[in-house]
Amino acid sequence: MAFSARLRKYLIIFLILGWSLTLIGYFVFGPNKYACFKKKNIRLYRANRLLMGTFWEVTSTHKEAGEIVFSEAKRIENLLSKYIKESEISRLNRAGKLKVSPDTFYIIKKSKEFWQQSNGAFDITAAVLVELWGFSNQEYKIPDQASIKKNLNLVGSDKIILHEKDNVVEFKLSGMKIDLGGIAKGFALDCCVRILKENNINNCLINAGGQVYALGKGPKGNWKVAIQNPRKRQISKIIELEDKSVSTSGDYEQFFLKNGKRYCHIINPKTGYPVDSGIFSVTVIDNSALTADALSTTAFILGKEEVEMLKRKFPETEFFIN
Ligand code: ADP
Ligand code: MG
Repeated sequence: MAFSARLRKYLIIFLILGWSLTLIGYFVFGPNKYACFKKKNIRLYRANRLLMGTFWEVTSTHKEAGEIVFSEAKRIENLLSKYIKESEISRLNRAGKLKVSPDTFYIIKKSKEFWQQSNGAFDITAAVLVELWGFSNQEYKIPDQASIKKNLNLVGSDKIILHEKDNVVEFKLSGMKIDLGGIAKGFALDCCVRILKENNINNCLINAGGQVYALGKGPKGNWKVAIQNPRKRQISKIIELEDKSVSTSGDYEQFFLKNGKRYCHIINPKTGYPVDSGIFSVTVIDNSALTADALSTTAFILGKEEVEMLKRKFPETEFFIN
């Protein structure tokens, strides 16, 4: 009894000390400033920021890497986010036709290519369905059949017209919308890496809310990244990366439960329903973060058997299914 009281006292002192140090750290460094630590006598800088609706963490021997990544990711977010009223995507969704920047034009064009290569599974025009199921404002609901059918008419990336000569994007049907949530983070990571290289930064680990890009090598050789088994909340494996990105898509992050059934934020554009492909998650590794992002979403929609078709089309890409 006496022992447990003493133990409790030490525990309380320990917790208070921990909190005090955290608070001191917060006020000294601020929420977005740098934490600096040494690994194998190499100084590493780590910085965090909330961007694109998720938590970004940048680790590098270069102190300036964090700011470079954050300002580039913010630039991309301002172009592509459906949650920013004046982004190019929001304006295009309202107007149905818009002259956009080369970056926005490029990502829409790439999205159309993935639509083609996935036989229509990856489809940014599923936006209206994502909205209908309440995934855009977290007001989740099961829509009635008639609304699903009506909105399915507005789905299909063949109905996006790309005017190459003047970067104009046009929707064939009024009411159509696009949602780049399945590809934008990957694109932003690639843009960040390009700018880091332009600034002669040759090592950097960027974790954008679970999607990682590993530039160059870490202080102990290749960067090591832990892959989590989402359902068991355990680390399922540790992989080593160099100049590659790893992306995971699944039904574990954004979903709602109704009558014991799980409805996730990735929609099957053929049925209009949240994906129920029998897998929990897919992890994809590729040199391009955009490709890893788009293909993890695609593979999750297609399911185990059809992923074989993707593997044949993308022989350089690695797929792990949970
Ligand atoms: P995360 O947002 O966790 O990175 P994903 O990369 O898998 O996850 O993207 C999921 C997002 O993709 C959804 O929130 C939605 O914005 C968008 N999306 C949903 N269904 C489709 C689809 N069939 N094709 C392309 N994008 C989709
Ligand atoms: Mg994705």
